[in-house]
Amino acid sequence: MTENRETELLESIPDGLYIGGQWRPAAAGRTLVVRDPATGEVVKTIADASPEDGKAALDAAVDAFPDWAATPARERAEILRRAFDLLQERKEDFALLMTIEMGKPLAEARGEVAYGGEFLRWFSEETARIQGRYGQNPEGTGRMIVSQHPVGPCFLITPWNFPLAMATRKVAPALAAGCTVVIKPAELTPLTTLAFAQLLEDAGVPAGVVNVFTTSTSGAVSEPIIRDPRLRKLSFTGSTGVGQRLLEQAAQGVLRTSMELGGNAPFVVFDDADLDKAVDGAMLAKFRNIGQACTAANRFIVHRDVADEFARRVTERVKAMKIGRGTEEGVAIGPLIDDRAVAKASELVTDAVERGATVTTGGTAVDGPGTFYEPTVVTGVVAGSDILREEIFGPVLAIVPFDDEDDAVRLANDTEYGLVSYVFTENLARGQRMIERLETGMMGLNVGVVSNAAAPFGGWKMSGLGREGGAEGIHEYLQTKYTLTPNP
Ligand code: NAD
Repeated sequence: MTENRETELLESIPDGLYIGGQWRPAAAGRTLVVRDPATGEVVKTIADASPEDGKAALDAAVDAFPDWAATPARERAEILRRAFDLLQERKEDFALLMTIEMGKPLAEARGEVAYGGEFLRWFSEETARIQGRYGQNPEGTGRMIVSQHPVGPCFLITPWNFPLAMATRKVAPALAAGCTVVIKPAELTPLTTLAFAQLLEDAGVPAGVVNVFTTSTSGAVSEPIIRDPRLRKLSFTGSTGVGQRLLEQAAQGVLRTSMELGGNAPFVVFDDADLDKAVDGAMLAKFRNIGQACTAANRFIVHRDVADEFARRVTERVKAMKIGRGTEEGVAIGPLIDDRAVAKASELVTDAVERGATVTTGGTAVDGPGTFYEPTVVTGVVAGSDILREEIFGPVLAIVPFDDEDDAVRLANDTEYGLVSYVFTENLARGQRMIERLETGMMGLNVGVVSNAAAPFGGWKMSGLGREGGAEGIHEYLQTKYTLTPNP
């Protein structure tokens, strides 16, 4: 029964490239396979684009731009709203699809559909509120008009860890602003984006406004698009290393860019924290998405007086977590995305232990099939350990003790990243000081998850440029024009 449902769902997903409102095979006839990380099995074969297809996708976005930019805001809003409604109708399919191709537990996949859908609703509402200004200049000699205009055709590159939400977080504001787009999903999880393109077509998005290509050669197909002078904007979510390379390519055309890059979030627990709240927050901040989130807490910086008790409580909770395929009832820990992710978690834990840390639970890879790593707690991590410097991107909770507030701030800020931080304290003044002192674009104060479509998501330092979501999100896809005209 379950397998039939999965088979039917997978058969219903388009396997072509979506260009100019048409589903078509790759020009060179190449294909790529998509696997289920929980079993290692191939679940679908889809088109594998070459640079020629990438150019065709950009051509379509360029052709469709003038009409879409001229479409009344209310019409654009209604299409986005229909997309939101259709997503609610299809939410179970989208959730199951993400569990199959990415591995997250089904309950979390449902949560991502809810979260990802909110960008469609939020930006459908923002569409009609794109505003300008009109007024006399200070000299009284003329009128100043400030107007907002869509940037133009955009290239959107998304990662594998949140296959739906990373797409809606870019597509919704782009379409709301009047931009057309080419989307390139991650090669490991392209099916959700193909289903999303189908949904947008069904919601009435005109041909060429949204174009999707899937490819196993991301660099080769993307670079000519980024260097094409007709492209006006690049929005990327992924690793800092790839983001830096794309910024170099974008520099040539002085392209507008938004970069949502890596994180290394500190999770600071003071001795005046409510430990129940801190442990609940830690479980969410660390183990959601099997630790594979840019917002995942990477370093648990815990006051020495409560570090043992905190470790004891999280260890108890982690021991109770069920590992398995995300479709199974009660599973909290699905597979990591691939072998490399398992190897990385193993290496980081080994390095920490060699430098003196202790594993209180977990610490080993699970035998295949599938790419599983046990949820793990490591205590007494010492300065200099790789696990404090690198993004773990796996279910490993690493605890470092601290002695006073200055020490906590120094440890928390001791990273090139600045995406999000989490702070647990019942002392209001201390909480406020931490808002001032931590160098991150977002903060959870006594909460373990901050993401919200109504909030500006984004990082400081090497975590990125620009914001997605909130009132800020649409401005990434708008450009300002100032006009001066003499008094009438
Ligand atoms: P990645 O950088 O390897 O890949 C991201 C995307 O870029 C994928 O679609 C990939 O195919 C594509 N890509 C890779 N090389 C490319 C190239 N040369 N040219 C064009 N495209 C290329 O990252 P990933 O492993 O898919 O995702 C994990 C990373 O993403 C982590 O570092 C995580 O922190 C980050 N992330 C950030 C956010 C955020 O909002 N800040 C959200 C989710 C994930």
